[in-house]
Amino acid sequence: MLQTSIYDTTGIERLQRELQIDSRLSRKLRTALFKHFQADELALAEFPATERLAIHPLALDSRHDSQLDGASKLLFRTATEMLIEAVILRIATGRTTLCVSSQIGCAAACDFCATGKMGIAQNLTPEEICDQVLQAGQLLAPESRSLRNIVFMGMGEPFHNEDKLYSALESLISPRLFHFSPTKILVSTVGIPAAMLRCVRRFPQLNLALSLHSVRQEVRERIIPLAKKFPIESLQHALHQINELQTRPVMIEYLLLAGVNDSLDDAQLLVEWLANLRAHVNLIPYNAIADAPHLIGTERTEREAFGAFLKQAGIPTTIRYSLGGDIAAACGQLVRKENRAVAITQTSGFSQRK
Ligand code: SAH
Repeated sequence: MLQTSIYDTTGIERLQRELQIDSRLSRKLRTALFKHFQADELALAEFPATERLAIHPLALDSRHDSQLDGASKLLFRTATEMLIEAVILRIATGRTTLCVSSQIGCAAACDFCATGKMGIAQNLTPEEICDQVLQAGQLLAPESRSLRNIVFMGMGEPFHNEDKLYSALESLISPRLFHFSPTKILVSTVGIPAAMLRCVRRFPQLNLALSLHSVRQEVRERIIPLAKKFPIESLQHALHQINELQTRPVMIEYLLLAGVNDSLDDAQLLVEWLANLRAHVNLIPYNAIADAPHLIGTERTEREAFGAFLKQAGIPTTIRYSLGGDIAAACGQLVRKENRAVAITQTSGFSQRK
C-alpha cells in the first residue's frame, strides 16, 4: 500500500482530501506527535487511516543508559539493516540535548574518530534524521523532559549529505512540524567552506560548529585527511564571512590530543588565528578509540591550563567533560563492526545477483 510520510505536509493534505478526513484530525495528529511527542497509539488514536501513513523509518534496536551520568545511547536500525545512533544528553541543569546522526558511517576518515574507520558512508534520508528526534522525544516525554537542543554531532559529516540535511532542518524548524527554533540547533562540520556558507545563508539563526582541532595546516592534515582539500586559510576566510552573516559566535571544536595539538604554543596560535573572529571555543576531551592506539588524550590539568590560556587571552572558552563514557556514546564505536558485517553481506548479495 502506498504510504504518505508524516513529514510530507502536501501529501498529508492530499490524503486528507482523498479520504475526506477532517483537517482538524491531521492537525491534531501533527501537534500530538511533533510538539507533544505523544506515544504513537495515543497520537494516532483518532486518525482514521493510519495504515496509509509512514511514521517511523527507523526501528529502535536497543537503548543503552549510562550508569555514570544522564546519557542514553539509542541504536536505530534502518530499512537497509544498518545501525545508526543518537545520543540523549540529560544535562544536570535540566536541559536535554539530542545528538543526531546524518549518515551511516563517514567518508571524512578523521584519525581520531571511530565512525570514520567504518569504511562505509551512506546518506540518511530527511525522514531518518527527523525520526531520531521524534523517537527520542517520545522516549523522554514520560520522564517529563523535553528536547531543548539538537546537535548534528553523531555519525557522519552533515555537509556530505547537504540537501537531505537542509530538508531535515526545514522539518525541524517548520511551525507545522517540530517547530524548533533554529537557535537551538547546531550543525557540526569537519570544515567544508562553501557548504558552511550555503548553510548559514539559508539558516542564518542556526549554530554552526567547526571541528578545527589545530590551526597548523600540517597537523590538521595528519588528523583530518579532508584538510588537504580545504586549507586552514579557506576556513578562516569562511568564518569571517559567516560572522558577517550572523550575530551569534561560531563554535570552534578543539579536541585535545597529547603532543599533537595541546601545547601552549598551539594555544597561542589559536588565539592569533581567532583574533578578529567572533568565536566560542569548546575544548573537548578525547574518547580513546581502539583503531587509533597512537592517539592519547591530554590530561585534565593540561586541558584546564590550555583553556585558562585562551580565556586569559579573551577568547570565550568552555572546557567540556565527556558524558556517556561507559556506553561508547562518543562516536560510533558500538555500531561499527555490526555495520561492516551488514555492508559485506549486502555487497556480496549484490555481486551474486549480477
Ligand atoms: N562530522 C562532523 C560531526 C560529527 S563528529 C564534524 O566533524 O564536526 C562530532 C564531534 O566529535 C567533532 O568535533 C569531532 O571532531 C569529535 N570527535 C570525533 N571523534 C572523537 C573522539 N574520539 N573523541 C572526542 N571527540 C571526537
